Amino acid sequence: MDRATLIDRLQQIVGPNGVFHRPADLLVYEYDGSVDGAVDTAAPAAVALPTTTEQVAAIVTLARQAGLPVTARGAGTGLSGGAVAQQGGIIIALTRMDRIIEIDREDRTALVEPGVINLELTETTAPQGFFFAPDPSSQRACTIGGNCAENSGGPHCLKYGVTTNHVLGLEVVLPDGRIVWTGGRADGSAGYDLTGALVGSEGMLGIVTKALVRLTPKPAATLVQLAAFADIESASLATSKIIGAGILPAALEMMDNLTIQAVEPAYHAGYPLDAAAVLLIETDGDPDEVEAMGVEIAAICQDCAATTVRSATAAAERDLLWKGRKMALGAMGRLAPNYYLHDTVVPRSKLPATLSRVGEISREYKLPIANVFHAGDGNLHPLMLFDRRRPGDVERVLEASKEIIVYCVEIGGALSGEHGIGTEKRDYMTLVFTADDLAAMAGLRNSFDPTGYFNPEKIFPKGYMCGEVRALRAQAMAQKLGIYAL
Ligand SMILES: Cc1cc2nc3c(=O)[nH]c(=O)nc-3n(C[C@H](O)[C@H](O)[C@H](O)COP(=O)(O)OP(=O)(O)OC[C@H]3O[C@@H](n4cnc5c(N)ncnc54)[C@H](O)[C@@H]3O)c2cc1C
Repeated sequence: MDRATLIDRLQQIVGPNGVFHRPADLLVYEYDGSVDGAVDTAAPAAVALPTTTEQVAAIVTLARQAGLPVTARGAGTGLSGGAVAQQGGIIIALTRMDRIIEIDREDRTALVEPGVINLELTETTAPQGFFFAPDPSSQRACTIGGNCAENSGGPHCLKYGVTTNHVLGLEVVLPDGRIVWTGGRADGSAGYDLTGALVGSEGMLGIVTKALVRLTPKPAATLVQLAAFADIESASLATSKIIGAGILPAALEMMDNLTIQAVEPAYHAGYPLDAAAVLLIETDGDPDEVEAMGVEIAAICQDCAATTVRSATAAAERDLLWKGRKMALGAMGRLAPNYYLHDTVVPRSKLPATLSRVGEISREYKLPIANVFHAGDGNLHPLMLFDRRRPGDVERVLEASKEIIVYCVEIGGALSGEHGIGTEKRDYMTLVFTADDLAAMAGLRNSFDPTGYFNPEKIFPKGYMCGEVRALRAQAMAQKLGIYAL
């Protein structure tokens, strides 16, 4: 199928205003939120913006006929290259499927289209006493479809769990164009957990066209405490002690001095500029319980030599403390033109050692590294600051990144806590997974998508799936020709 025919057929499906194909329009779709250099950029042949599930299915069927790969895309805030169409083809941007179809107060669920923005779901359900618990710091922009595909987390996932814990069912378009539902309204399930397999599959198994998600009741009381420390070790120790005491905060976040230097002048959140690290600790629940946890947390922080412990109960004061944390990445522009954000996880007890290793790597590679992260669940976010226009900077960042990843894996950590693998970390997969593990994952992928049309080149080490897909295609062709032994 030539390009003109492809554009024409896409326009027949979604209308002339639903297709982008001019180079200037496609430019923005060559990227996501990842660092150009760590992740290759690539241009799609066209971007289609459907408004219904049937249109998504028709585009997928067309892509199959044309032999073109398909990449689903939400807001493009992903940090591992997931929404970049590595082999070109068609990008299906789900941003125009943005309706909250139903809010069921009794069952505490919402049925939404994939382009609904994460924060919008919380804001819409707040007057009815609910919120959507997974709260990535990008929640003002990222979509529920993207959250499902990446199994996204956020500060409040320490207590409430990540996206997979809040998805009850999914409507998906499969790689052969069929529309199916997985999961359902009732708790409990029999058979394989297909919803669980789809959440976190990075758009490689199916395209989410509707999600049935859990709504969480707003707690009766919420307290946010800010604790400042003169050194990072004390802040890490306080983190371990709070969790060790059996307290489960809704969120427990750490920011180091470099982060404070970027954030405080921008948002005046009230973080002490001379602190080596601050912890933001949120507790919620019944008022008495929250008060008791607050007293205990303050005592633990003081035991760990906190220089300040401040409590915020009023909503405006709490919001301001959170604003600094949630907007921290944006504030990094005050320190350097570019940043590269990592997302490894280490056992909480290894936080002090890991942060000191990150400090050593920062000095070795002469790269400022800020740390702003989900301390409560050991999910690190070292943020390397650099200037991509300066020769050698990108290469140094990538070398330093490798050191951090390898170190975290060696001490028993995970490659990603929430940002996914995409193309960014695919070549590190063999550090964590055996050949058998990868083969099992490839088997799952092949059972959904034997021809590998959906979001190729993601998750698996470079070249890994190509061999598989070629073999399958050869097998199919051989069968067609009546040759069964390859
Ligand atoms: C400033 C900033 C802060 C961030 N903070 C966090 C954080 O705290 N926690 C966190 O987890 N992440 C965070 N992220 C990463 C990112 O926002 C999340 O991964 C988010 O869920 C991506 O959503 P999106 O709509 O932008 O998806 P995209 O980037 O468009 O796509 C991400 C992946 O999902 C797939 N996809 C998108 N829509 C669908 C669909 N409907 N069906 C199937 N596959 C689909 C794409 O193919 C791709 O693989 C942050 C990013 C930024 C820029």
